[in-house]
Amino acid sequence: MDAKILKEKDRKYIANTYARFDLAIESCNGGVLYAEGKEYIDFGSGIAVSSFGTSDNEWVNAVSEQAQKLSHASNLYFTEPAVKLAELLCTKTNLKKIFFSNSGAEANECAIKTARKYSFDKYGYGRNEIITLQNSFHGRTMATLSATGQDSFHNIFNPFLEGFRYATANDLDMLKNLISEKTCAVMIEIIQGEGGINVLDKSFVKNAAKICAEKDLLLIIDEVQTGNGRTGTLYAYMQYGVNPDILTTAKGLGGGLPIGATLFGEKTAETLSRGTHGSTFGANPICCAAAYSIISRLNNKFLGEVKARGNYLKEALLKIDGVESVSGLGLMLGVSIDKNAKEIANECLLRGLLVLTAKDKLRLLPALNISYEDLDKGIKILSEVLK
Ligand SMILES: *Cc1c(COP(=O)(O)O)cnc(C)c1O
Repeated sequence: MDAKILKEKDRKYIANTYARFDLAIESCNGGVLYAEGKEYIDFGSGIAVSSFGTSDNEWVNAVSEQAQKLSHASNLYFTEPAVKLAELLCTKTNLKKIFFSNSGAEANECAIKTARKYSFDKYGYGRNEIITLQNSFHGRTMATLSATGQDSFHNIFNPFLEGFRYATANDLDMLKNLISEKTCAVMIEIIQGEGGINVLDKSFVKNAAKICAEKDLLLIIDEVQTGNGRTGTLYAYMQYGVNPDILTTAKGLGGGLPIGATLFGEKTAETLSRGTHGSTFGANPICCAAAYSIISRLNNKFLGEVKARGNYLKEALLKIDGVESVSGLGLMLGVSIDKNAKEIANECLLRGLLVLTAKDKLRLLPALNISYEDLDKGIKILSEVLK
């Protein structure tokens, strides 16, 4: 379809909920995207989704083999791809059990339900509050919007879910003050992604984990964006010396197919019992095979290379005129610039580089295996645009 007609029809037939970049993407090849007759270097990975680049060979093979073998069975039966993926993730994280869903919001929804049920089972009614952080982002469903600590998300759709309190990131005293006999859990992102690539302090996370353990509050870590190798470790919490009671992830897990996962530690492994949660599409065999092809490649050697690429990119960015600072870990970087980030992202697009924004920063989330050649090309375009 001609790009102009495609965009017209999109506006006509698709609900107008996104401020789209003016680009119709058609296909891809080895880290490069093709759109409207031009090539693009991709520093966004479809928002941290295409972990090994878009349609990478190993992923395509895993997905097509599974599609031919068994596309769907439902959770009324046992299927091998789900079991293999669950075993792999539990072994690598030392968490005990998994619930599979289809997105980050659903993974968090499941975490919220689990926290409330854990507390109800043990302490009865009334202990149901979850403390999240200001400037967090946990999803677009009613419960996860309620968990999201940004006022701009708390209008229009009233009434929201009760039982969320919001602490300032890295403010341990405020967190302590918000904890009461009603609290059942603390929910954090290790790096606030949508909130502007704000990396939490190690001491804050460690102390929060300690307080949670003392008071039997569940520590929920939302790694929907930071997870699956993005920060240079399998999950970002692994760099913080803490262990979540509940871990959620999605985005890069399926490498381009929709899958979310909620992982349970020792305390919460048996909390969700028969009939208390479910999903028709959850644990879909093709999505699980896709995720297996991603997670099984994230060994220590590869993760070391993610860190190396991240450091290389960060250092190159800091040398660019107009770059004030760079935040983030691994290949999840926020770039503070002296210009309007949205405008710069649009300028980059015109010159063949896709970048994202988060609040007033540029947000870079390239494929975990991006070549140094493509990194250099992207850095060059960005430095020309910032000039
Ligand atoms: C993207 C994101 C979500 C929501 O994920 P969806 O798959 O869009 O529902 C939740 N939490 C964090 C940290 C995210 O980055």
